[in-house]
Amino acid sequence: MLRNDQLDQWDRENFFHPSTHLAQFARGEAPNRIITGGSGCHIEDREGNKLLDAFAGLYCVNVGYGRQDIADAIADQARELAYYHAYVGHGTEASITLAKMILDRAPDHMSKVYFGLSGSDANETNIKLIWYYNNILGRPEKKKIISRWRGYHGSGLMTGSLTGLHLFHQKFDLPLAQVLHTEAPYYYRRDDVNMTEEQFVAHCAAELEGLIAREGADTIAAFIGEPVLGTGGIVPPPAGYWEAIQPILEKNDILLIADEVVTGFGRLGTMFGSEHYGLKPDLITIAKGLTSAYAPLSGSIVSDNMWKVLEQGTDENGPIGHGWTYSAHPIGAAAGVANLKLLDDLDLITNNREVGGYLNKTMAEALGHHPNVGEVRGEGMLCAVEFVKDRDSRTFFDAADKVGPQISAALAADHVIARAMPQGDILGFAPPFCLTRAEADEVVEKTAKAVKTVLG
Ligand code: PLP
Repeated sequence: MLRNDQLDQWDRENFFHPSTHLAQFARGEAPNRIITGGSGCHIEDREGNKLLDAFAGLYCVNVGYGRQDIADAIADQARELAYYHAYVGHGTEASITLAKMILDRAPDHMSKVYFGLSGSDANETNIKLIWYYNNILGRPEKKKIISRWRGYHGSGLMTGSLTGLHLFHQKFDLPLAQVLHTEAPYYYRRDDVNMTEEQFVAHCAAELEGLIAREGADTIAAFIGEPVLGTGGIVPPPAGYWEAIQPILEKNDILLIADEVVTGFGRLGTMFGSEHYGLKPDLITIAKGLTSAYAPLSGSIVSDNMWKVLEQGTDENGPIGHGWTYSAHPIGAAAGVANLKLLDDLDLITNNREVGGYLNKTMAEALGHHPNVGEVRGEGMLCAVEFVKDRDSRTFFDAADKVGPQISAALAADHVIARAMPQGDILGFAPPFCLTRAEADEVVEKTAKAVKTVLG
């Protein structure tokens, strides 16, 4: 086995890490952590530390680490048939079974699943399908996509554009011209602090209607949104938000993409966020929880209505010119089948609902009154604590003070992982669904301790 100092050197010399301060990392100024194992809600590193992972990797290891059933399914599939493609009608038992399992769980009006590898490529697929759809319907001008500020939809060229976070645009020449952003449904950060929640929802709806009127509905193809804003700050929508937004989309013949990469397969305590908020999307993006990240796999779930037009398109133009070598990769599909079975067999969504509710309640009790905590919020097994310099005037800290990253570092030093969200001083929690109440207690106690260490 390699020595730790050898691995550290190779890491800094050779490995281009995503979402990392490259210069600091290469110079050895930013820490690294080399992970060696995981079980349940815990991971272990090369130094022998055992950490409670209260962010489930990147909110993806939903069933928890070390699940033998999924590992066996992957190994069996690799031995039997590691790869075959899915082009021109090819498939495997695993990919066909998984497509059926997904549709059995998805809203009734959904029709087919296209498989990709990541949330980003699934959203790229979605936009291509929407452009194709409007071309087939003879409306080539209807192509713009509306996203929300603080939405996160990936980091490709189109998906990085849809993402409404500055870090993902700056110096990359994004967003692309076809993408428009509208108000984030983030009540705590509303411009006018005197607005009620109801007034704020009306304001979000008016902003959207204004944008559509200015651009022209005949130029706008779709609206993309996460049921609950994730990477933008873990922000459940204000009451009535989706009820106000959906009719505007319908009235203007604008398709809805529900990006359920985080919320799909149980994170909100229901199978899909669409079910949770009464959404009727035309496309649903899935990834993370589909395999609990045991293997890379994503999907675009296509509605009946869209599917009919796609069929018409291929009758008129021949096979659809879209595919990845690894679409419906058998190993990913086998992992997905085993993962969804486990979710049912262990009733993990029920545990998620119960312990997620407990985590949110106890976090609010422990930190809700702290003078530097503006808000504790969450839904299902998602929770966030937002820090402010002054609670009464809602004055935020200067980003350069790095309050969020300092608190997450103090917490990690105490062996609990939470995520300093990229925009704002927000500490995010998204543990595996198998979290116990005792583990939730540990997360809350240690978070309160870390907050005290950094902010007093
Ligand atoms: N959509 C949402 C809502 C996400 O949270 C993410 C990733 O966090 C993505 C899309 C992109 O997924 P990936 O990182 O697998 O490309």
